[in-house]
Amino acid sequence: MFNKILIANRGEIALRIIRTCKEMGIKTVAIYSKADTESLHVRFADEAVCIGPPASSESYLNIPRIMAAVEITNSDAIHPGYGFLAENANFAEICRQSGVKFIGPTPEMINKMGDKVTAKETMIKAGVPVVPGSDGLLKDVKQGIKIANQIGYPVILKATAGGGGKGMRIVTRDEEFEDAWDSARKEAKASFTNDGIYVEKYVEEPRHIEFQIIGDQHGNVIHLSERDCSIQRRHQKLVEESPSPFMTPELREKMGEAAVKAGKCINYEGVGTIEFLVDKYRNFYFMEMNTRIQVEHPVTEEVIDHDLIKEQIKVAAGHEISGKNYYPSLHAMECRINAEDVFNGFRPSPGKITSFHSPKGHGVRVDTHVYAGYSVPPFYDSMIAKLICRAQTREECIKKMQRALDEFVIEGIKTTVPFHKALMKNEAFRSGDFNTGFMNTFDMNDCNE
Ligand code: ADP
Repeated sequence: MFNKILIANRGEIALRIIRTCKEMGIKTVAIYSKADTESLHVRFADEAVCIGPPASSESYLNIPRIMAAVEITNSDAIHPGYGFLAENANFAEICRQSGVKFIGPTPEMINKMGDKVTAKETMIKAGVPVVPGSDGLLKDVKQGIKIANQIGYPVILKATAGGGGKGMRIVTRDEEFEDAWDSARKEAKASFTNDGIYVEKYVEEPRHIEFQIIGDQHGNVIHLSERDCSIQRRHQKLVEESPSPFMTPELREKMGEAAVKAGKCINYEGVGTIEFLVDKYRNFYFMEMNTRIQVEHPVTEEVIDHDLIKEQIKVAAGHEISGKNYYPSLHAMECRINAEDVFNGFRPSPGKITSFHSPKGHGVRVDTHVYAGYSVPPFYDSMIAKLICRAQTREECIKKMQRALDEFVIEGIKTTVPFHKALMKNEAFRSGDFNTGFMNTFDMNDCNE
């Protein structure tokens, strides 16, 4: 087992990883930017190294500085968390060359899955269903329009390097194609310095259902069932739950089998997520793979009662997993609490938290790095807490979430708590009858209490 892990991240996930390391008897090193000197991950780690100014490019994304911190602290492994360098094959390669274990898949696996076009091609070879679309990248508008007519509108343009919902445009007719193409390319170039675009059928009224998988260094890959992440705004997840209200035992078997096949075809090592779109007829299509721990992993932890970070560290250390899949025995749901003003188009609302009380009680979990007196910096992601509830049934889980949201006090900044309260009352949500288009019809006035 590792002696000392450096956590190349910040916020709740850094804290989350430190907690598990402590339980496993592994020493921890936090790295932090000058904007994060008051962060809990800095205080809770055994050692902490300031690696630079607030800008991510100068700190959490700065590989030379992170490697210098590894060296001076004599760490033998790096946990990248999610975001930042978690899916950066170059970083994983540098770790390998420096003799430090990158807790995650190999650079080759990240490369195969990080590029969406390559990932789709890999899945087609493995016999996993994918959304119909272009064979690889589009050359120009003319070719795009031709393919769009072959597969039929509506279509979606997607950035091959995409992430966080960026570089995607829906197109419903030929006349819209060129504008969508230009703006998708521009956004992709600005976000990923890669303007490669492909096109696929826009699946209508789809569910976003993803499977958690885990693979070890001995060729075993299993799945840990699904999470439904269909409640999204601008392709970004707001609420996740497991099991999916849309799932049937037969569909779970089929999708789980496809997810394991997807992992096995690249000899996947580590925790990962296979994302699928599921249409109203319960046809499912591979969309992408995330080769890291995800924000919403606690939902799975709660329904199968296993610590996924612990499992992730164990497989990185060479531990062999059992061959059996895991199935949910409870219902869990996560609300992402962001420092955003829901009455102003979810505009970021950084600043000082003057008062903070988090909900407690049976089946309630709050993963957060904030506290009363903490200032949310404007430089990073706006997520400040994850509220996770677990109960015997979905109905009870929603009731518990409502109770927990009512208990949540966060003052000084605006948060997404009012949105989640309104969502829990929404009839379509409560009945489980929703898809990724849910937010288009959701009335934000319902957030006024
Ligand atoms: P990112 O990596 O940017 O998160 P994804 O490929 O995971 O992008 O897609 C994010 C979301 O965009 C999905 O959850 C879904 O809501 C929507 N989406 C992506 N592809 C399609 C498609 N072919 N049809 C319908 N919706 C799609």
